[in-house]
Amino acid sequence: MIEKEKILDRTDPVCGLKVNMEKTQYTSRVGDDIYYFCSEECKKRFDFDPRKYSGDDDQDD
Ligand SMILES: [Zn+2]
Repeated sequence: MIEKEKILDRTDPVCGLKVNMEKTQYTSRVGDDIYYFCSEECKKRFDFDPRKYSGDDDQDD
């Protein structure tokens, strides 16, 4: 079973910290995926080179 609290947790792809998707104000959208960041710095680093952090280029379309 998956608890609701855990559903709200996302991993910051830049630094690896857990981010609460309802609380963070730092998000970035790539295609259909939304990434969540712990800080503006992490978001900036992601936006600079999204493919480096989003990891997979095996997306469905
Ligand atoms: Zn971070």
